Amino acid sequence: MTNEELLTRYPWLVTRNRFTDQPYYDGSTELDMMPTGWREAFGEQMCEEMNNEMRTWSKSNYDNFRILQIKEKWGALRVYVNFSSEELNEILAKYTTTSRVTCLQCGRPARWISRGWICPWCDDCAVENLHACHMDDDQFQDKFISIQDYYEKEED
Ligand SMILES: [Zn+2]
Repeated sequence: MTNEELLTRYPWLVTRNRFTDQPYYDGSTELDMMPTGWREAFGEQMCEEMNNEMRTWSKSNYDNFRILQIKEKWGALRVYVNFSSEELNEILAKYTTTSRVTCLQCGRPARWISRGWICPWCDDCAVENLHACHMDDDQFQDKFISIQDYYEKEED
C-alpha cells in the first residue's frame, strides 16, 4: 500500500504537529517511523487489526485516537498511543513479541541479536551490518549473539 492508500484506509496514521495537533498531509505516515523490515513483515497487518478493533469504539474515540510514537527500543517495536483498550493493548503486545524475532532490516526471521545496539537480524543482514561497521567475519561473535541464547539468558 502507498502512504496515500494507508491514510485513506487508516486516517489515524496521519502525522501531526505534536503541539497544535494539526495534520501535516505531507504524504508521510506514522508508520514511516517503523523499521523497514518490520513494516514489510507485519506493518500493514498490524494497522488492519488495530483499525478493526478501533472501529468498535465510538466515533469520537476513533477520531481522537492518536499515534504518539512508533519506535524500536531494545530490539522490540514500541507503539505509543494517547489511549487504548484492552484489545488494542493485546494487538500491540503481540506485534512487539513478533518484532523481537523479525529482522528489522528485511523482515525475514531473525537469527541474531546485535550487542550494544540490541536489534534482531537475519543471517544476511547481520553479515551486511558487520561489514558496514568495518568489522571482519571473524569478529562476528563479538557483535552478535544467537537469538536463542539471547532470550534464554533474559529468561534466567
Ligand atoms: Zn534481514
